[in-house]
Amino acid sequence: MSWYTGLHAKILFDEPLAKHTTLRVGPLAKIWIEPYEKESLRAILCHAKAKKIDYLVVGCGSKMLIKKQKVPLAIRLGSPQFTACKVDDIDIIAGSGTKLAALVNSAYMHGLGGLEFLSGIPATAGGAVMLNAGVGWPERIELGSFVYEVEVMDKNGKIKVLPQNRLSFSYRSSNLRPYIILSVRFKLFKKNKENIKLKIRKFLEYRKKTQELGCFSAGCIFKNVNGISSGRLIDECGLKGRQIGDAVISKKHANFIINRGSATANDIVSLMRVMKAAVRKRFKLNLEPEVKII
Ligand SMILES: Cc1cc2nc3c(=O)[nH]c(=O)nc-3n(C[C@H](O)[C@H](O)[C@H](O)COP(=O)(O)OP(=O)(O)OC[C@H]3O[C@@H](n4cnc5c(N)ncnc54)[C@H](O)[C@@H]3O)c2cc1C
Repeated sequence: MSWYTGLHAKILFDEPLAKHTTLRVGPLAKIWIEPYEKESLRAILCHAKAKKIDYLVVGCGSKMLIKKQKVPLAIRLGSPQFTACKVDDIDIIAGSGTKLAALVNSAYMHGLGGLEFLSGIPATAGGAVMLNAGVGWPERIELGSFVYEVEVMDKNGKIKVLPQNRLSFSYRSSNLRPYIILSVRFKLFKKNKENIKLKIRKFLEYRKKTQELGCFSAGCIFKNVNGISSGRLIDECGLKGRQIGDAVISKKHANFIINRGSATANDIVSLMRVMKAAVRKRFKLNLEPEVKII
């Protein structure tokens, strides 16, 4: 009998990870597993620890570039237990697998403001909190500032609730790396529904105007440098449209790499090297990847 026999989970074998990342790149996951409840997740983590199996947690895969040739175990928290959203006065408690679109909609339906800036980001609550997702327009707003507490599971399967004073968020990063995020309590504020709707529309319109949507990308590939837009720096190096294999730098937003269909992780990494070298040469600035290279 295999270790997963009888596990309360959806299990797939040799699942193409490319299907689960927005860049559409990745190897097969030997085992792809979606636990139906926390107990099953605990059993998976304990097995992985005992057998020293590397695992990868996948949200929407919208900030992942998987270079690895082999992924023995991929875990997604996509079952109803991990995607439920509950409102408690001005708080929303979202399962980590909740899509941001559902989270924003739930806040709107309950007249709770604050999260409108997440509109159009193709992510899960867990992935977005892990990476402190945010926008720089019309001002810098980050998800971490709305997080009140986070329920996590550690690698031993132990559940903890981390209050605000044990959380730290910085630019596209958090101190939650050692954990699997189970759910997040966001503290919002009461707001007129019409105003929420208007703000959502503004964010979506801005996104449509400035970003390459509807194609395979991971959003911004590099972090901004000292508050300077990396997109602007790359653009000023004249790199829009530069292509390696099937990976191309967007003509609309120079910090977006688009997979035209059959780009490999190596094509994308090579293009990133070209961007980094050009910016270093011209501006003496060091671009840091925003995408998680795995
Ligand atoms: C068109 C487009 C536009 C975008 N716009 C923005 C934007 O405006 N602002 C912005 O910040 N980002 C943006 N992004 C990037 C991306 O959506 C965010 O970085 C998002 O936070 C990633 O969430 P995810 O669920 O897809 O995480 P994934 O990419 O699946 O995972 C990211 C990392 O978090 C880990 N992780 C995921 N879920 C969990 C969990 N439950 N527990 C523990 N670890 C976990 C993964 O292992 C991985 O290391 C954009 C992407 C695209 C494609």
